[in-house]
Amino acid sequence: MRILLVEDEHKVAQFLRKGLQQDHFAVDLAADGEEALYLADSGEYDLIILDLMLPKVSGFSVLSTVRKKNPNVPILILTAKTAVEDRVRGLEIGSDDYLIKPFAYAELRARVRALLRREWRELKLQLRVGDLVLDPVKRKAWRGEKDLELSNKEFMLLEYLMRNANQVVTRTMIAEHVWDASFDSFTNVIDVYISFLRNKIDKDREPKLIQSVRGVGYMLRDEAPEKAPEAS
Ligand code: CA
Repeated sequence: MRILLVEDEHKVAQFLRKGLQQDHFAVDLAADGEEALYLADSGEYDLIILDLMLPKVSGFSVLSTVRKKNPNVPILILTAKTAVEDRVRGLEIGSDDYLIKPFAYAELRARVRALLRREWRELKLQLRVGDLVLDPVKRKAWRGEKDLELSNKEFMLLEYLMRNANQVVTRTMIAEHVWDASFDSFTNVIDVYISFLRNKIDKDREPKLIQSVRGVGYMLRDEAPEKAPEAS
């Protein structure tokens, strides 16, 4: 799960980012409205946390622009205590919930989880590819009868592959969705994690679900390809 955190107060931003990362979210941080619009446009986020008082482009403006392009992404706004009309306006423009500053991290986490659960219920998500099943709400995955013991990153990687089943995903796409923006995609970390997943999912089993697409990336598919996919 990847979150866009828009907050210009450096200390608050670092504090929230750290908490969210400890709760196993990948977090990209935007420190002003312009950067927020850029990131929201270039990345895919499962949730956006948006401070309203921002430099360059206001939170309201970010909210309405993002909402027009993406009607579904849950947006949680952060507002000052006194600004009742801001909260109302935010909800009218299309935020899903709000938090009044200052707030405890535990409250933010509870709101974030509630919004994501709502989203997942609507999307009815258990992901399935062949006999491989992943439940993002319960954070469980299994193949056939066997529960898979996955680390956090393995789980996030598998979830991403399953959401894009039967399509080629490049290492860059994986880096952008499973790791945060500071990740150096020139390392072989992704390949290492793919091999961890293969060991847990495909070892001693048929069909092999994780396919390499040479020179490009990977594909999770539920049936053996007629011919091995090859990059030109
Ligand atoms: Ca602010």
